Amino acid sequence: MRVCLVEDDLILGRSLQSALQDAGNEVVWIRRSVDARHWVSEEPFDALLLDLGLPDGNGMDVLRQLRAEGKRVPILVITARDSIEDRLNGLDMGADDYVLKPFITAELLARLRAVVRRSGQWLAESDGSKWVCKDLVLDERRMVLTRAGAPVGLSKTEFALLHTLMRYPDRVLTRRELEARALPHSDGQALDVHIFNLRKKIGDGYVRTVRGVGYVVET
Ligand code: CA
Repeated sequence: MRVCLVEDDLILGRSLQSALQDAGNEVVWIRRSVDARHWVSEEPFDALLLDLGLPDGNGMDVLRQLRAEGKRVPILVITARDSIEDRLNGLDMGADDYVLKPFITAELLARLRAVVRRSGQWLAESDGSKWVCKDLVLDERRMVLTRAGAPVGLSKTEFALLHTLMRYPDRVLTRRELEARALPHSDGQALDVHIFNLRKKIGDGYVRTVRGVGYVVET
């Protein structure tokens, strides 16, 4: 999965980055809260690892902003602050869980998997390559889509579009995000054509148009 790591400590950040990568994740490592706000607002992530003590502000503000924007990305807070108030504040603000420094990396990875699993975005019981929405199951490793158990034939581009949307259920993906991820070489018009063709194959009720913004797969 794609993880945003927000940690200003270079030694800790580097060790977390490599541990996450070794566990098969794609990692974007950020050191300042201003960059965290920008990245997580603009880019889809499967999870956010958030340090609270950042050089240009408090990670709690990042948390507050993301939840105010309606971002549902699972957030695991990593912090040295172990007071009850900080924990309660963070959970009130929408953090999914806490890990206190110092921690064991294996525990942090397990807690991260747990918050992502709880968020329903990731099927941990599978081999990590299947995405589900209603009766659609998309197997990214085998590049197969089934609806109610029956295979649905998609073009490569349609598959890439649906894959991108299903990885981020209930999150509106902008036209720019979808074009960048699923059809990097086409013009703006082609996106709507591909979505039209995709809907013809999978049926209505899966991909919703958000006028002037983009598309969303709703669970
Ligand atoms: Ca820090």
